[in-house]
Amino acid sequence: MAASEGNSVLVVGLGRFGSAVAQTLNDLGQDLLAVDKNPALVARWASVFNVVEADMTDMLAVEQIDASDFDRAVVAIGDSIEASVLTAGNLLDAGLTDIWAKSVSKEHTRILQRMGVRHIISAESDAGKRIGHLIAGDYLDYIEIEGPYTVVKIHTPASMVNRTVGEAHVRERYGITVIGAITPGLPFRHGDEETVMHREDELIVLGLQDQIDRFIRE
Ligand code: ADP
Repeated sequence: MAASEGNSVLVVGLGRFGSAVAQTLNDLGQDLLAVDKNPALVARWASVFNVVEADMTDMLAVEQIDASDFDRAVVAIGDSIEASVLTAGNLLDAGLTDIWAKSVSKEHTRILQRMGVRHIISAESDAGKRIGHLIAGDYLDYIEIEGPYTVVKIHTPASMVNRTVGEAHVRERYGITVIGAITPGLPFRHGDEETVMHREDELIVLGLQDQIDRFIRE
């Protein structure tokens, strides 16, 4: 069922989160199979991408769709933690190691972590944190990446105006990396030691949140 190119993805659960993931993968031309136990949802998506009706807490169903042939799986079940962990367990047992699972609570995350699920997505709390930063106005944009690191878009801090990244010893003093700078109306500039931080620029920086906060405030 799945191609052997290394890009096949099984998406389990077609609620708002899973269907958005599946649509994006489909738009990107990935080899996709979606599964939901709800026949109405299967009918809803059947004309858009490959989708089958199955209950993935049932190991027989997991075997029937040849889940082990897929390179990765997304477990997008939030309506039942039990169904989510049973499904993730079945996929791990089938030999799938690259699993992305949506978590709806801290407890859910802890169980998925202990099971060895590689990628755990806390969609709602991540979105809440991001919106908090945007509303507070200190960040123009914000992406949380691996572990405690974040990439944020900020205005040039007052103390940095017209200085270069090298001159201001940004890495040594703050521990952060200026990835790039955007001057309104001009193309993106990749950040290096010579990058000048103009007053009107937006900077894209990578670092720990408290390092970035210190860079903004000093
Ligand atoms: P969201 O919050 O993203 O809208 P939900 O958690 O409400 O998503 O939706 C989960 C989806 O997963 C539902 O469409 C549900 O039918 C499906 N689902 C739940 N349990 C299973 C299962 N055991 N096998 C397959 N699909 C399941």
